[in-house]
Amino acid sequence: MAVSTTAWICRTCGNRYPPAAVPPSACVICAEERQYVPATGQEWTNLAALAAEGHTATWTELEPGLSELAVRPSLGIGHRGLLVTTPRGGILWDPPGYLDDESVEYVRERGGLLGIARSHPHLCGVQDEWSARFPGPTDAGRPCGCRVGTPAGCSAPTMPSPGGTTAWSSRPVSPWCGRAATSPAAPCCTWPTRRRGAAPSWSVTR
Ligand SMILES: [Zn+2]
Repeated sequence: MAVSTTAWICRTCGNRYPPAAVPPSACVICAEERQYVPATGQEWTNLAALAAEGHTATWTELEPGLSELAVRPSLGIGHRGLLVTTPRGGILWDPPGYLDDESVEYVRERGGLLGIARSHPHLCGVQDEWSARFPGPTDAGRPCGCRVGTPAGCSAPTMPSPGGTTAWSSRPVSPWCGRAATSPAAPCCTWPTRRRGAAPSWSVTR
């Protein structure tokens, strides 16, 4: 008989774990010295439960080519996600711990995803779900997802991704966008600023 499994999400940090019949014994992100476990103990949830509680994921366009993703009511540490769109697809930065079909459609209408990356180890959110929703262009037809970029040298646990992970370390090179940059202390993603009257100039490699 098949065992029912759930992809558990930590309520404190919003990171999601691989499907399992029972929640992990601990959240490795919150148990790490840079995060914390609440005095009331570890709590787990999942996407269906969060939807039933009334959580929504909404996008706001901050400027052409840059959109902000927010989850309401706040989840985890309440961080926002960012979507940078390029002619070849988008880069999702610091995904929160929740998504819904409407938020996925927003990204799809803007060209889908080339990849996902984050600035800190506790900001992975539901990157595995985002990865699964957007099959990688080099693996079309196979069960996979867009890849997740992880800052090289980061000793924090790597959360799962159907498309696998790619470490990046040298600046100004990233797995997807030639203008993205990173440093060991503060991984970041940069892109050309749109000049008045000029078309954005993207440099995207894969
Ligand atoms: Zn956690």
